[in-house]
Amino acid sequence: MKKYIRSVSSALFLGILLTLGMNRMEVYATEPIPVADPNVVTEVPVQQPTVPAARPKRKEDILTVQVKADIESMLKEDTQDAIMNGYLSLLNKDYILHDELEMDLVGIGNGHQLEPLAAEKITQLVKDAQKERLYINITSSYRTYLKQVELFKNKIERLEKEGYTHEEAVKEAATVVAVPGTSEHHLGLTVDFVTGRYKKLDEGIRNTNEYKWVEEHAWEYGYIIRYPQGKSDITGIITEPWHLRYVGIPAAKLIHDRGICLEEFLGVAYDDQKDGVSYGAGWINTGR
Ligand SMILES: [Zn+2]
Repeated sequence: MKKYIRSVSSALFLGILLTLGMNRMEVYATEPIPVADPNVVTEVPVQQPTVPAARPKRKEDILTVQVKADIESMLKEDTQDAIMNGYLSLLNKDYILHDELEMDLVGIGNGHQLEPLAAEKITQLVKDAQKERLYINITSSYRTYLKQVELFKNKIERLEKEGYTHEEAVKEAATVVAVPGTSEHHLGLTVDFVTGRYKKLDEGIRNTNEYKWVEEHAWEYGYIIRYPQGKSDITGIITEPWHLRYVGIPAAKLIHDRGICLEEFLGVAYDDQKDGVSYGAGWINTGR
């Protein structure tokens, strides 16, 4: 649910969103069509309401040739495939997905799902916070690739209805909805949270006691604040204090203690980003 995506010059590292996705989770409401019992003969035929059954949307209906082209037009030219490396997977605007990921998911309440260990740890985090009278509410979690396509497509269509040309609509949509394949929510390792009292996904959450606690303790559960302040040039994403990513405790501790972002930790922060120095522990060999 990355709502804010900032464009960054192509010479700089672009953003990072990612996706792992798997099974489609959407549940399509299907209205049972009333059917007359054929064994019952009635004198007066009952007029059945003509309610068409809601048909589940098929992938082909959502991922049309047009929307594929729209997605393609909004991706960087030199994108590479997301680097799938367990809890240290990298998905951002440079390393993207092209389709769903196969993965196990478990529920964490309110219809949210995550990868099993990420789910267990965030559940523990929320519980422990509660013991301190801090209330953390998860508002977003795993999201399928196809769901992201749907969000993107719907946004384009709404903008067109408002009078945008198709091209303008696609560009505008890409500034408010993550381009499919670039959202880290596809990985099943990511949540967005608000607090019991502060419900907005914005900078104001930093002033809450919940955020302060998360900032200090999330690493103990293997989570990091994925888009920290001052790292937008590297992540390609505006700072998002509400977006947590599971990476496992060792990585989370190091990232927290050093005040670096995931790209720096992985050694994929571009060398020409700042001063020619290569950042990070270089856990992923990207061939750079
Ligand atoms: Zn998020």
